[in-house]
Amino acid sequence: MPKTRQLLDSVTIRPGMAATGEIVKGQSLRIVDVDGGQIGDFVALSRDDRTEHLDCTYTNWANLGWRWKQGATIFTNHMNRMWVISDDPTGVHFTGGGFCSNDARRLFLDPNDETKGCRDCLEEAFEERNIERHWLRAASCFNLFMNIEYLPDGSWDSRPPISKAGDYIELRAEMDIVWALSVCVIPFEINKSDPTPLRVDTYGSSSAG
Ligand SMILES: [Zn+2]
Repeated sequence: MPKTRQLLDSVTIRPGMAATGEIVKGQSLRIVDVDGGQIGDFVALSRDDRTEHLDCTYTNWANLGWRWKQGATIFTNHMNRMWVISDDPTGVHFTGGGFCSNDARRLFLDPNDETKGCRDCLEEAFEERNIERHWLRAASCFNLFMNIEYLPDGSWDSRPPISKAGDYIELRAEMDIVWALSVCVIPFEINKSDPTPLRVDTYGSSSAG
């Protein structure tokens, strides 16, 4: 019997904005790069324990590498299973953690820059859910579609995303989760030139149909 599942929710996030939502175990998030070439900062907390978050560092340990493959498990800081990467056609994301921010923009771009960065937008999104800003941890940031290579000489090579219009990554929840996603507007090659939206589709559990 073919498997069917229901689209429960769909939210499109404009550049320079963030959105947040909840998902329960067994449901899936599909994050779609609507026009291609766009990076997003994705974070997640246990719905029932603010101290437990998606942790890139511990997931790298668990997967013995930083380029997570389709089928890999994403772990929390308490080494619990949080997500499974159930579908990932591009396979190119960055797992070193961290966000752009207004602080970073002032350092790298203009000391008088007042544009919000991803961290600022994610903190505001969390506050809408009465989650205090300090629960946003740099180690929890999974940088979707961000294309960075670790070179043998120890440096990073920042490259444009390879994602094309409609490319996506799909994550199946292994626990009940609060997630947030920002659409980055940092004006470097790493984000191509024109910021474009991302869309988050939430699907129910698969069932025989
Ligand atoms: Zn950003």
